Amino acid sequence: MCDWCGGEFAAPRGPGRPPRYCRRSHRQRAYEARRLAGERGIGPDEVLLSRRTWERLRDALFQLEAASEDVAMDLMAGRPTKAEYVGALGHLSAAVRDLQEIAVEPIALGDD
Ligand SMILES: [Zn+2]
Repeated sequence: MCDWCGGEFAAPRGPGRPPRYCRRSHRQRAYEARRLAGERGIGPDEVLLSRRTWERLRDALFQLEAASEDVAMDLMAGRPTKAEYVGALGHLSAAVRDLQEIAVEPIALGDD
């Protein structure tokens, strides 16, 4: 798993340390984020995000929570039809997609 993006990648076999990043640009971004963390005194368990990223994440999580509650309420009441299940799943899927579309990339990432 890439230490920057969390994506899985096939590490080449052979001698030497296994790579920590799926691509060179991710290694570079991780380096820059660690360097900035050092400059700003960001601790090993801390992450600095942009305000915009933070707000989008917070809002998308709130929407997902609301969608989840809506779906639970709708499906718990009475005997839902297949169309109601499909509608509920679509509602939930849309909230998940909104969350997935947020590029969560730290500005600075403490070195662990
Ligand atoms: Zn990566």
